Amino acid sequence: MLVQRSLVLPRALQKAGSKAHFSTATTSLSSYKLVIVGGGAGGCATAAKFSSKLGKGQVAVIEPSTMHYYQPMWTLVGGGMKKLNNSGKPMSEVLPKKADWIKQKVVSFDPDNNFVTTEDGNQIGYEFLVVALGLQLNYSQVKGLPEAFETPGVGSNYSPLYVQKTFESLKNFKEGNAIFTFPASPVKCAGAPQKIMYISEEYLRKNGKRSNANIIYNTSLPVLFGIKKYADALWKVVEERNINVNLRRNLIEVKPDTREAVFQNLDEPEETFTYEYEMLHVTPPMSTPDVLKSCKALTDDSGFLNVNKETLQHTQYPNVFGIGDCTNVPTAKTAAAVAAQTGILRKNLSLTMNGSSPTALYDGYTSCPLVTGYSKCILAEFDMNGNPLETFPFDQGKERRTMFHMKKDVMPALYWQLMLRGFWEGPKIPRKIMHLGLSR
Ligand SMILES: Cc1cc2nc3c(=O)[nH]c(=O)nc-3n(C[C@H](O)[C@H](O)[C@H](O)COP(=O)(O)OP(=O)(O)OC[C@H]3O[C@@H](n4cnc5c(N)ncnc54)[C@H](O)[C@@H]3O)c2cc1C
Repeated sequence: MLVQRSLVLPRALQKAGSKAHFSTATTSLSSYKLVIVGGGAGGCATAAKFSSKLGKGQVAVIEPSTMHYYQPMWTLVGGGMKKLNNSGKPMSEVLPKKADWIKQKVVSFDPDNNFVTTEDGNQIGYEFLVVALGLQLNYSQVKGLPEAFETPGVGSNYSPLYVQKTFESLKNFKEGNAIFTFPASPVKCAGAPQKIMYISEEYLRKNGKRSNANIIYNTSLPVLFGIKKYADALWKVVEERNINVNLRRNLIEVKPDTREAVFQNLDEPEETFTYEYEMLHVTPPMSTPDVLKSCKALTDDSGFLNVNKETLQHTQYPNVFGIGDCTNVPTAKTAAAVAAQTGILRKNLSLTMNGSSPTALYDGYTSCPLVTGYSKCILAEFDMNGNPLETFPFDQGKERRTMFHMKKDVMPALYWQLMLRGFWEGPKIPRKIMHLGLSR
């Protein structure tokens, strides 16, 4: 049911002298002080903060999914350490009670007239908009891949549809190539494509199959990881564990009938390499969702929401803010980054609502727990300039058991209990305390 709020009517309707609640046989218009598009990590945390501040009925979250997933857990699901149902909760349980949940997909934006349109044809007006749409997984851009998911040996930790196939493929592995891919597009959690490779390597070793396996990491990137400190640590891991890394190789086709994967050499586009696979873990090409990409007024040339990278305010529409993976903030796209951004958004959106200019500045803090097996992890933390920004007062560039338990046991609780309820804005305060006030 749509609820009418303090209505900011689209300009066209204002001119036509329409009443506050506008409704025809096919269209209904309601309006909110704040509309949040997307109820994932960023949308849900933002809704929690602002619905408690603004009160019941002032905030709407538009989100079509019935389940909310803690996606970082899928690395562990793919490695058989957690079950898929440990990673999700019904959306109705995680969205704040004081916000109205509009269980719809947004199908278009009209930022000049301050409304969005949902799949059922309704228009939802807003005074302020937060775009938190995340990333779209473009599996069908790889020829043959959708069909290959129907066959044994092919999995992907990036989707609840295919993550369980990763562990199935590991358990059924006999002999041959185990191939792990990284696409030629921005991705969420750029470490996840290789975390599952280290987990798989250890699994095969512990189950006596390692000598039958050739482990290959084919990445489109020119580096193993974007931050040198952690890349150096990971090169040591791949060398010690006899993993073959090929840079600038992009998966373009999967042939499930012959169990072959075709990669393009991104430096010599005419050149392709075909590998037989026993196991194939695919990280799909990603983009912002089509609805955002197609709104040129809101996006940059790559289809990402165009925001000021420090204030998170839209560059053209001051009543629009962005959070999370769908923005063009130049930092690694993670839930950890989202947590830090919620603090910036809390301050800057509140200031803007009160008629002031944003003053809080995001440093690009992000984090990637680089799980390297069933008990070890390198906890990478860095800013948008690629400088390490570590929480703990020891060298986080080393594999550690404590960091593995942080990832497996502490972070899920932090996400569900604190972050989604609007109480976790990243580790800035603990970091300062642990560095005796000497850290940023
Ligand atoms: C395998 C894997 C491992 C990861 N590991 C880590 C990790 O270790 N650490 C870490 O910090 N992060 C990790 N991440 C990344 C993290 O999950 C994301 O960065 C984070 O969820 C981004 O939050 P978001 O709110 O931007 O997007 P999301 O949480 O993806 O939410 C986007 C929401 O928008 C909704 N939506 C989409 N289209 C529409 C539409 N048209 N209308 C309305 N709603 C729509 C979606 O249904 C979704 O609920 C991992 C991710 C994966 C997949």
